[in-house]
Amino acid sequence: MKIKSLLIHGGKDGDEFTGAVNIPIYQTSTFKQPEFGVNKGYEYSRTGNPTRESLEKLISDLEEGYAGFAFASGMAAITAVLSLFKSEDQIIISNNVYGGTFRVLNQIFNNFNIGYKIVDTSNLNEVEKNIDKNVKAIYIETPTNPLMDITDIEEAAKIARKHKILTIVDNTFMTPYLQRPILLGADIVIHSATKYLGGHSDLVAGLAVVNTEDLAEKLHFIQNSTGGILGPFDSFLLIRGIKTLSVRMDRHDENAKLIAQFLKGRPEIEKIYYPGFKEHPGHDIQKKQADGYGAMISFVLRREYNYKKFFKNLSLITFGESLGGVESLVCHPASMTHAAIPYEIRQKVGITDNLIRLSVGIEDKEDLINDLKESLEASKEV
Ligand SMILES: *Cc1c(COP(=O)(O)O)cnc(C)c1O
Repeated sequence: MKIKSLLIHGGKDGDEFTGAVNIPIYQTSTFKQPEFGVNKGYEYSRTGNPTRESLEKLISDLEEGYAGFAFASGMAAITAVLSLFKSEDQIIISNNVYGGTFRVLNQIFNNFNIGYKIVDTSNLNEVEKNIDKNVKAIYIETPTNPLMDITDIEEAAKIARKHKILTIVDNTFMTPYLQRPILLGADIVIHSATKYLGGHSDLVAGLAVVNTEDLAEKLHFIQNSTGGILGPFDSFLLIRGIKTLSVRMDRHDENAKLIAQFLKGRPEIEKIYYPGFKEHPGHDIQKKQADGYGAMISFVLRREYNYKKFFKNLSLITFGESLGGVESLVCHPASMTHAAIPYEIRQKVGITDNLIRLSVGIEDKEDLINDLKESLEASKEV
């Protein structure tokens, strides 16, 4: 099946008992065991629940992995994956990873002596140079949040394999509709399904997909032991969201192309980060490894313009955290999504105060452009 069909019919399609075309919400904590030592495949919903399992099979099919796991948030998925490591292990992370990923490494896993090295993973020489006997994984986001750096997943995975370490990819920005890291050699794919996969800004969820039976056993053990599972109702909502991913992503992508072009011509803007531009340093790699450029655009206002005024004057586009919903969202990475990253590191990597991140929604393109135009014009310092 091709991906557009798989989004709708992948995983466990419907309910085998009644023929319902949608998997029911099995809102139950436990399951009757017909006799001693016998069960129908389920015992307790932390360990396994049919609605969650349907979602887990679906994401595994979409990412072409061995098994999938659903968690209560993207951070719970990331935490479970990082729990594969042990004291003295080190993980190489892309230099502008999601703020929460940095925070959990820096303030939680640090306490357990699991370390990280911040590396520009778009530069593969830097990646290889930083691998030593303690480094056990390369953790990539591509495109990165919020600066849209592109890492060559296939080449990074080759380096990882050579050193017998894992490649982990946070695929939130692309989704399996646009990019399938396991086919490029990655071992583990992570999603904040809160974003494009859910797609409607109405749930918080995380997913992880692994490429081997060994990793599947380990991650299931961690999922069951630490318990950060996704509940049946949210699993159902997420399956429902995923069914329309292809039409949403096509529109997101189309709108983003037009808006990036519009922003490029604006006098208020100093710099735009969008991998769809030919002059973007990662453009060719993005083109090679993904089926689109996504709908995340970051831009820097010139000094004479005030970002607070820009946010205040928007009327259609919502100012708020998150991304990937049907509605367009803007945020201020320095004080919102990336506030957990120390000021010096933020400056060093380019997450400055005048940086704005836009998640282009699927509204009418002219409405979006007019809103941006009016707000940019009103953002001049007097
Ligand atoms: C939002 C996000 C996360 C965290 O996911 P939650 O669902 O908010 O816990 C991780 N990675 C990326 C790239 C994100 O955008």
